[in-house]
Amino acid sequence: VVRISDLHKSYGTTPVLRGVDLEVRQGEVTCVIGPSGSGKSTLLRCVNHLEKINAGEVEVDGELIGYRRHKGRLHELKDRLITKQRASIGMVFQNFNLFPHLTVLENVVEAPIGVRGLSRAAAVALGKELIARVGLAGREESYPRQLSGGQQQRIAIARALAMEPKLMLFDEPTSALDPELVGEVLAVIADLAEAGMTMVVVTHEMAFARQVADTVVFLDEGRVVESGPPAELLSAPRHARTREFLARVL
Ligand code: ATP
Ligand code: MG
Repeated sequence: VVRISDLHKSYGTTPVLRGVDLEVRQGEVTCVIGPSGSGKSTLLRCVNHLEKINAGEVEVDGELIGYRRHKGRLHELKDRLITKQRASIGMVFQNFNLFPHLTVLENVVEAPIGVRGLSRAAAVALGKELIARVGLAGREESYPRQLSGGQQQRIAIARALAMEPKLMLFDEPTSALDPELVGEVLAVIADLAEAGMTMVVVTHEMAFARQVADTVVFLDEGRVVESGPPAELLSAPRHARTREFLARVL
């Protein structure tokens, strides 16, 4: 469903992604691991065109993201079309990013009403179902500040799901949480995996990657050093760089 080929991205003259190839099949979970600064967040941001890319391409369900091809060259899409593409790709960040002045339910129904054009009644029904799915039924009228970090992150996931995305991107969804709250958020993501959602998850949680990922990708200095099933990559890495990284984090 996701096909990234020869993706290059620089900030100014500093290359950050140097030819990344990555494929995520329908219903599969790919975990991206790698040292700080290796380009993990940048890679996710390129997938929904929060960043312009310098070369290569990103396709989701066969559709080029952010650009159209014309006479062999890529031209950036109009904002309206980029917004439309992003609507089908959910993204969850480290810091939840809920709207502080809106209730839990309002946070979840805002985009389905505003962007998908659902009726309020339909959006509320969907919103309540998703809030229950992340284990927070009954908290619809709470404000984000009244929730723990783990609960806020679960609501952020429900909010992304309310767009009925075909792909979910997670950028270190648990790294801002107190250790005792990490498990409840990972459990929600694992449930989504079980339900067949296609996902790319940047994470430092190796036990989670081992259990949930179909593929683990090790990124270093803007390149995919190696990728493979978790049992192989995490237990028997082929490259010295991967071994060094794992020795530090495991
Ligand atoms: P971390 O594990 O710390 O989140 P990361 O793997 O997500 O790291 P990125 O955030 O993708 O790494 O950053 C990769 C490199 O790009 C870093 O050297 C960073 O300083 C640089 N970078 C990221 N965003 C920008 C920006 N907007 N302008 C300039 N440089 C940037
Ligand atoms: Mg990052």
